[in-house]
Amino acid sequence: MAALFDWVKKLGQWHIADPGQSETRCGAPMLGNNYARHIPEADRRKCPQCWGTGPDRI
Ligand SMILES: [Zn+2]
Repeated sequence: MAALFDWVKKLGQWHIADPGQSETRCGAPMLGNNYARHIPEADRRKCPQCWGTGPDRI
């Protein structure tokens, strides 16, 4: 399994991306800044599509 990395948007939406891709796993373009280093995990909200946790929408 390749190393994944977190892609966190400004409002805390927590996506997952595969290295070398230009989109997150849910297909969101990785535009702007990655806030993974600025927003602690406790303040993030997992993207259900990236994390496979359910049909909830962000
Ligand atoms: Zn996502």
